[in-house]
Amino acid sequence: MHIAIIGAGISGLLTALELVEQGCQISIFDQQQAGQAASWAGGGILSPMYPWRYPQAVNTLAQYGKSMYQTWNEKLLPITGIDFEIHDTGMLIFDEDDFDIGLNYAKRNQEPMQQAEYLKHNALAQINPWIDPKFQHAIYFPELSNIRNPRLLQSIVAYLKQHPLVNFVEQTHIIKFQIQSQKVLSAIDQHGNKIHADQFVIATGAWSQHWAQQLNLDIPVHPVQGQMVLFKAPAHWLPTMCMNKVMYLIPRQDGHIVCGSSMAHCGFDTTPDAKTQQNIVDACLEMVPELAQFPIVKQWAGLRPSSPTGVPYIGCIPEINNLWMNVGHFRNGLCMGPASAQLLRQLMLKQSTRIDPMPYSPERLNTEQLIIS
Ligand SMILES: Cc1cc2nc3c(=O)[nH]c(=O)nc-3n(C[C@H](O)[C@H](O)[C@H](O)COP(=O)(O)OP(=O)(O)OC[C@H]3O[C@@H](n4cnc5c(N)ncnc54)[C@H](O)[C@@H]3O)c2cc1C
Repeated sequence: MHIAIIGAGISGLLTALELVEQGCQISIFDQQQAGQAASWAGGGILSPMYPWRYPQAVNTLAQYGKSMYQTWNEKLLPITGIDFEIHDTGMLIFDEDDFDIGLNYAKRNQEPMQQAEYLKHNALAQINPWIDPKFQHAIYFPELSNIRNPRLLQSIVAYLKQHPLVNFVEQTHIIKFQIQSQKVLSAIDQHGNKIHADQFVIATGAWSQHWAQQLNLDIPVHPVQGQMVLFKAPAHWLPTMCMNKVMYLIPRQDGHIVCGSSMAHCGFDTTPDAKTQQNIVDACLEMVPELAQFPIVKQWAGLRPSSPTGVPYIGCIPEINNLWMNVGHFRNGLCMGPASAQLLRQLMLKQSTRIDPMPYSPERLNTEQLIIS
């Protein structure tokens, strides 16, 4: 079976990986260089922030992120030579209003990754000595990890590019589909070239609304800008991830510390601005004042593919038999990525699914359209 995938962010790349491992022939397209959009810009926390604030359908996909990435890293590393560093740091959360609800969530769910404990000041200082003493207590999630997402993308791209069943096409903008009798015959690029395949997958992140008009569907996926600031400290300087008021610090193994993030609706603008950058720095220095001694080495913004509830659309597009989608992962596309791609592969190949596909069905698009109209 030949499958054409449009979009080479984490959603498209992992879908390609899942399908090629089942013997499918893959053509994957991106309008720019692969793996440079939201999936590059993200922080790589392998859990929704404050999981109790999300629908269960988000947490169901996210719970498999870490173990599936471990498996993929073991498989890809010997071939690509790129370790995407699943960094087991744990996470401290300082939002006092979330203490009880977070601890109860951990108790109720018994999910290994979401185990949590309450830390008083002494225990907190032992786990992370750089926390400002004004934070007298915290809740601690010892099993939470982060992934070095730019390397993750590099690794998958390198693996797919050397695979004999994969045709990897960058700088190619897919404009529209040629559809007849509820079937896509081809996808058409900016030069008018027709790409033929048996099945087609839309994995176009924040750009996914582009398809709404042609498919006569409401696709409520919009770009939501998030900015980041990167510090460079010595390796292993900051022992844990830290979070307060939706701002966070994410330590990498080599001492880089990713700090974020903001939320802004400003179309497809990816220019960081001084005020937002300062807000991020202030929020992170409030948690870890000693960070101020280290240099800022990079700043950027990325476009999250928002969806109304953060639950992605995964499955067959209504009324078209061979067109699928894997879009709308909003703030959690990296942690939901592996299970989302696995679910789509199982649906496409008519295999039994690990999780119930219903909450993710693109049939919701029709219902949402009815509600809106
Ligand atoms: C600042 C920030 C922090 C984040 N932190 C985290 C985190 O800690 N943990 C987490 O799980 N998630 C996080 N996220 C969210 C996560 O990054 C996204 O949900 C995820 O990357 C979305 O992946 P995607 O493949 O759907 O989209 P993208 O990575 O944006 O990829 C879509 C691709 O499709 C291509 N494309 C679009 N239209 C076309 C077309 N017509 N033809 C050809 N190609 C096309 C684009 O060029 C792009 O490469 C964060 C996001 C941001 C911005």
